[in-house]
Amino acid sequence: MLTVKTRIAPSPTGDPHVGTAYIALFNRCFAHQHGGKFLLRIEDTDQKRSTPKSEMEILTALNWLGLTWDEGVGVGGDNGPYRQSERAEIYRQHADILLKKELAFPCFCSAQRLEKVRQAQISEKRTPRYDGHCLSLGHTERQSRMQSGEPYVIRLVIPQQGECHFIDWLRGKVTISWAQVDMQVLMKSDGLPTYHFANVVDDHLMGITHVIRGEEWINSVPKHVLLYQYFDWKTPEFCHMPLLRNPDKSKLSKRKNPTSINYYRDMGYLPEAMVNYLGLMGWSMPNGVEKFALSEMSDAFDIKRVSLGGPIFDGEKLDWLNGKYLREDLSDKEFASRYLQWANNDNRLGQIAPLIQPRVEKFSDVIGLAGQFLDGIVPVDATRFEHAKLSTDQIIRILQFSLWRLEGLQTWNRELIEDALLDLSERMNLKIRDFLFPLFISISGSAVSTSILDNVSILGLDLSRARIRHSIELLGGISKKLAKTLEKEFRAL
Ligand code: GLU
Repeated sequence: MLTVKTRIAPSPTGDPHVGTAYIALFNRCFAHQHGGKFLLRIEDTDQKRSTPKSEMEILTALNWLGLTWDEGVGVGGDNGPYRQSERAEIYRQHADILLKKELAFPCFCSAQRLEKVRQAQISEKRTPRYDGHCLSLGHTERQSRMQSGEPYVIRLVIPQQGECHFIDWLRGKVTISWAQVDMQVLMKSDGLPTYHFANVVDDHLMGITHVIRGEEWINSVPKHVLLYQYFDWKTPEFCHMPLLRNPDKSKLSKRKNPTSINYYRDMGYLPEAMVNYLGLMGWSMPNGVEKFALSEMSDAFDIKRVSLGGPIFDGEKLDWLNGKYLREDLSDKEFASRYLQWANNDNRLGQIAPLIQPRVEKFSDVIGLAGQFLDGIVPVDATRFEHAKLSTDQIIRILQFSLWRLEGLQTWNRELIEDALLDLSERMNLKIRDFLFPLFISISGSAVSTSILDNVSILGLDLSRARIRHSIELLGGISKKLAKTLEKEFRAL
């Protein structure tokens, strides 16, 4: 009998996203409900955007949520390595197979030529796609140009006409015309594969039977199906989950909603409540209860119960559910110990002690200085931002520009935060004291506090971002038009 195997395949290019946890949850439940296995693979072929920090944070966040995996990075298994950057040779060999069968072809087109073709297609109102230029090169020319060291990519041969049909478990039969499918690059000129190629090769070699992922990938299925056919491999089942949405129905994005799992951890949500909440995204228990444990969801899981209307990730409902967990599931003792565990996550109390100790005369003075580190959004009102030299517009600028600088940091530490903010204040032609004032109020709630650089570095990006955003809203917010102007100004600094 076929053993069910599913996977989550995150690209480590940013914060650990709630969407990754959501898809991981459904994959894990599906596999376990069928007595199968759930695998984790890291898709880090985009060398410029992938970072070890992001990988580590994704793995930590999934573990924190209890969304552990049975095979893959950190756990091992028979089908490793599980990091795509360590599998380059495997992809190269597979690309060679397709080249030999002439189901893929080398493309020598320069970036300039491709851009010209694209522009021409756009002006003729056609969908931009590769025009097949290198498809017509003869075998001998291909070979000699490849051997001469000329840079090339490898592209997929696509049927010239007809349609691709496949079954999506939630949608039934899906039909996409081949005319809409591009001659996808499989291998880049740096010798690394693209997502599509590595993903299919790995899903096959790792024995994945069911591909459950976000619906943004549904239009890619024809390319994938074609690859399975070209290799003569069994195609897995496909199931594309509805995307999480903001309360205004737009696609969940960090512009409108915190999307990092770290934010929810730092705000003090319980992992079990988070997982339960994600389980309510487009799914419901057969008995209709809204509060359930991961094991209960796994046992009762039925993928056919997923509804396609875009599930709304709504902070208020999450608060309600988290509150229920805090009140109903924890004894007094557990409440106290879980609180302390949260307060001291990442040795937070140890980190703030050296800042506070030199400033107090007795222990009862501590909470006034330490409160900001154990708070979500610090209580402030707009009048606190009034400043003799800075207008509200300037304050909004300082806050937004600082946030963009902080978001751009590759590594989070005090020195880099200091460098970034000092540099920004100089570029904005502001005295550091004046420049830091709005940040003090926003982050710490007061102009008298421990060093703002320490505060930001200990609080982390997610809480700092939430506070800065909250302050900007308090001060009147940033309209779409203003956002554009600010982006321009920021880039010109
Ligand atoms: N690496 C892809 C992502 O980050 C995986 C998509 C898939 O599951 O096929 O979304």
